[in-house]
Amino acid sequence: MLQNIRVVLVGTSHPGNIGGAARAMKNMGLSRLVLVEPAHFPHADADARAAGASDVLEGAQVVSTLEEALVGCTLVMGTSARDRKIPWPMLDPREAGVMSVEHAAQGEEIALVFGREYAGLTNEELQRCHYHVHIPSDPTFSSLNLAAAVQVLSYEVRMAWLATEGQANEVEQAEPRVERVTMDDMEKFYEHLEATLVNIGFLDPDKPRHLMARLRRLYGRSEIDRSEMSILRGILTETQKAANGEPYKRKDQ
Ligand code: SAH
Repeated sequence: MLQNIRVVLVGTSHPGNIGGAARAMKNMGLSRLVLVEPAHFPHADADARAAGASDVLEGAQVVSTLEEALVGCTLVMGTSARDRKIPWPMLDPREAGVMSVEHAAQGEEIALVFGREYAGLTNEELQRCHYHVHIPSDPTFSSLNLAAAVQVLSYEVRMAWLATEGQANEVEQAEPRVERVTMDDMEKFYEHLEATLVNIGFLDPDKPRHLMARLRRLYGRSEIDRSEMSILRGILTETQKAANGEPYKRKDQ
């Protein structure tokens, strides 16, 4: 079940931190590491800090965008040391651990996303996450070392997982499984939505303000399933047709 939870490190500068993160993960039973544009990898400093967790490093997937790192995920949590402009649904690490394990138990893919040592995650990257997770550190010195932050989240995942161990899963399995949409489907939807909003004149590409960010927040917390997504896509397709002057045709005609 912990295989369904991946750790994504974005733009890591110090390879030692990648090794430290791999070790932190392996200690807690996590093994899937995805690196988005690491500055140096593979690197001797990563191997040294990973100690016995070189298998996690060897299995690490290196990609060039966050989007690629999130393919297949239905739940994405982005960690952040500080508040951002547009408030987002927030979790503390404990809640994040419990929610990750609950979703992983349903066979879903979950990503825990960590930012750059010096700049964290960009607003755009944070807007790709369903939730933001803040480790409640001292506000006067709030930023943890990257590998230490991975350790805290991985520990909470393990505690939540241990709490479910040995429990009969029959109740959960008896519930009908909702087919959630993946992040890649959500990205296609956002592209379609943005194009449609531009098309009907609701979104001015020269003055986008924070419209798409706000819509991402809205749809992101809606836990959309696959059938709901096809309704939304259908509405957008028909809206575009109407905006382009194509006549409305009822399906049964
Ligand atoms: N100056 C950066 C700090 C980055 S620390 C900033 O303001 O965001 C590197 C990464 O470690 C962060 O992107 C985040 O993923 C994680 N991290 C550090 N401190 C954290 C905290 N208190 N809560 C959650 N994540 C934290």
